[in-house]
Amino acid sequence: MSDLENFRAETRAWLEANCPPEMREPLKDESDACWGGRNPTFKNEAQKIWMDRMAEKGWTVPDWPKPYGGAGLSPAESKILREEMAKLGCRSPLSSFGIWMLGPALLKFGTEEQKVHYLNQIARGEIRWCQGYSEPGSGSDLVSLQTFGEDKGDHWIVNGQKIWTSYADKADWIFCLVRTDKNDKYKGISFLLFDMASEGVSTKPIKLISGNSPFCETFFDNVKVPKHQIVGELNRGWDVAKYLLGHEREMISGAGNAPMGSVGAMHKDLMAEDPLLRGDMAKLDVDTLAFRAMGEKFIDEMKAGKGHPAQPNMMKYFGTELNKRRHELVMAAGGSDALEWESEASKGGAKPRAWLRTKANSIEGGTSEVMLNVVAKRILDLPGA
Ligand SMILES: Cc1cc2nc3c(=O)[nH]c(=O)nc-3n(C[C@H](O)[C@H](O)[C@H](O)COP(=O)(O)OP(=O)(O)OC[C@H]3O[C@@H](n4cnc5c(N)ncnc54)[C@H](O)[C@@H]3O)c2cc1C
Repeated sequence: MSDLENFRAETRAWLEANCPPEMREPLKDESDACWGGRNPTFKNEAQKIWMDRMAEKGWTVPDWPKPYGGAGLSPAESKILREEMAKLGCRSPLSSFGIWMLGPALLKFGTEEQKVHYLNQIARGEIRWCQGYSEPGSGSDLVSLQTFGEDKGDHWIVNGQKIWTSYADKADWIFCLVRTDKNDKYKGISFLLFDMASEGVSTKPIKLISGNSPFCETFFDNVKVPKHQIVGELNRGWDVAKYLLGHEREMISGAGNAPMGSVGAMHKDLMAEDPLLRGDMAKLDVDTLAFRAMGEKFIDEMKAGKGHPAQPNMMKYFGTELNKRRHELVMAAGGSDALEWESEASKGGAKPRAWLRTKANSIEGGTSEVMLNVVAKRILDLPGA
């Protein structure tokens, strides 16, 4: 057997022996995932065991270097791990903005000390992070942000407001864009990290149309941030922010990766009856396969250093629009019953709430219109986009 075949066999055997059966069930919703944190809550013992075992092996972040909590797997090995986990239906052990967003930015822009400190915490799920980018009036036009950090020698005093900060009320730390020079729009922003328990930080949850409150308004009132908690250079936080956004968009695009036949599985009777609906479901499955193939290709290209920097925008656009289509079909196939909102039979309206949640997919992390602008300008080279 080749080295990779050996690795595949060992990986499969380890997963079979160590992934508890409960962790091989699909997630019901975002709250069913394991988010870690300073005061973590686990849905059950199996969830904790799974996170601990995977963190111990470095497989919460398999391709990060070992000194930073990863397993140092090569791109080919990481792919094998993903494939074997998918075959057994293993859940991701840890959902984390640290893994998906901050970690890659720290790997590129962090100091050695920051990498060792923060990345190990992220890999072990010890600190839950939130993202302080958007402000009232600065969403798509993020670079107009106004939250200001006043230089006080060895620290900044930060004042301002963020909005739509996902899980700000549950997060331990924030990665935050702060203006540190008012004279230069792009080269006047710094990328700061600070503790959400710092004096002067407060949050106010906002309700989504799904009835859930996954995000907040976040206020900073004279928050003291030590100077060593900057990532990258002073006033060059926009470079870090853009790099991180690429990873965020890739992560959100994963919404497009639902199991094949998932809509049909939910509505077996209706499926058989309605040929038009069956046609739409088949088309969705074909598009999902094409999306997956595109994703694998882009990941391979990226790991080989040959990816186009605008690829995550394509993925984000297509994956989120695909997920919206999927949930539209779930609702269409369910008829008026699918609108039921509160009963036990409907699991508290799981389907309509999930459908409404998908409406935000093409807004969060950058809207579909903005993604199309980037694709037009940077990939298709169209004028005036
Ligand atoms: C569920 C959810 C979670 C989020 N979580 C976070 C988070 O954790 N942290 C964070 O910082 N932010 C978060 N956001 C905010 C998100 O990044 C912004 O909502 C997004 O960037 C859009 O900004 P906006 O809401 O200000 O809309 P606007 O920028 O005001 O856009 C309004 C409309 O105008 C369109 N538009 C704007 N500019 C252009 C243009 N140049 N060309 C064409 N159309 C344009 C947009 O497409 C949109 O339809 C979250 C949002 C959602 C929905």
